[in-house]
Amino acid sequence: MSDTEQVALSRNPDERQVARLDRDGRKPICPDCGSYVGHTKSGGKTLPDTDAEAFGWSCRDCSLTFPSHCHGPDAPGFNSSMAGLKIEFRDGETRWVPVPTRYVGGESA
Ligand SMILES: [Zn+2]
Repeated sequence: MSDTEQVALSRNPDERQVARLDRDGRKPICPDCGSYVGHTKSGGKTLPDTDAEAFGWSCRDCSLTFPSHCHGPDAPGFNSSMAGLKIEFRDGETRWVPVPTRYVGGESA
């Protein structure tokens, strides 16, 4: 949240943002540049404002992270080393994304 003047769609290109992945059919693509990002799916994706690293995709050219999503703090569907963390995306929506449990206290270990 910025309290400086609002400038639409103006941002530092080095600023990491969290966005939703686009899809071309079944292929995951970057919504900003249209690059195929399927080859980048892995853990350790950088998130802004937290040390946690998400599981998901990224676009290096756009400094965008596209976390996979999960359905709550227990990250159902992921293995027991993953937990859900609420992350605010650039569209203003807050969604659960899977991160290693060590970033959320690890109480489910
Ligand atoms: Zn991109």
